[in-house]
Amino acid sequence: MRRMAPLFHRSHFLAVLLLMFALPYALGAHSQRSGDNPVDPLSKLKLGNQEFSSNEHFKQERKRVYGQAKQTPFAIVLSCSDSRVPPEIVFGKWLSLGDLFVIRVAGNVVDPTALGSIEYAAKVLHAKLLFVLGHERCGAVEAARAQNPLDPNIAWFVAPIQLAVERTRGREEIETIKENVRVQIENVRKQSSIIRDLEEKEGFKIAGGVFYLNEKANGRVEFFPDGR
Ligand SMILES: [Zn+2]
Repeated sequence: MRRMAPLFHRSHFLAVLLLMFALPYALGAHSQRSGDNPVDPLSKLKLGNQEFSSNEHFKQERKRVYGQAKQTPFAIVLSCSDSRVPPEIVFGKWLSLGDLFVIRVAGNVVDPTALGSIEYAAKVLHAKLLFVLGHERCGAVEAARAQNPLDPNIAWFVAPIQLAVERTRGREEIETIKENVRVQIENVRKQSSIIRDLEEKEGFKIAGGVFYLNEKANGRVEFFPDGR
């Protein structure tokens, strides 16, 4: 909320306007508008970028953030690639650029590329928190639990979930999803002496939680009480 508070304080009108117009566009509702109704995916991206490029709020945001010599995200988020779980929206940062350093990989698993990205953001950019975000109805977790044969490259991101599957055998899917977040946090600590050092000496924090997609949950993230 660090940067959101002054934004809303400065201009409630702008915020309300953006919530009414910009967010629905960002969420895809714009595809029906004004007869252009693009059907092919590339046109949708082009239109979305036009909207971003011409939006007055983001003009100010770009000036504020891109005017700095480097990025200074306050948190790193490792989340699933699932299209329904964008961390910038889930954590209320859709109006502010530069707050979150986001790594998205199906199943929110830690592989060397994800770990290297985490280390870069923590050590070089001085982000102070890693948050591992799992989510309800995760296809990667479902695939890991199903134990069916997988295409070779899909198997890469399903394999690191197997430990969570073993630990939660006979229990409901949501328990595997939660355990997978804990397993990936363990993996970060096990595999990165850089992150262990930052935790011990620099106050770097790691936390986790699960996002609920069902309608009754109202977009809630369950933050694990002990942070992991
Ligand atoms: Zn997922």
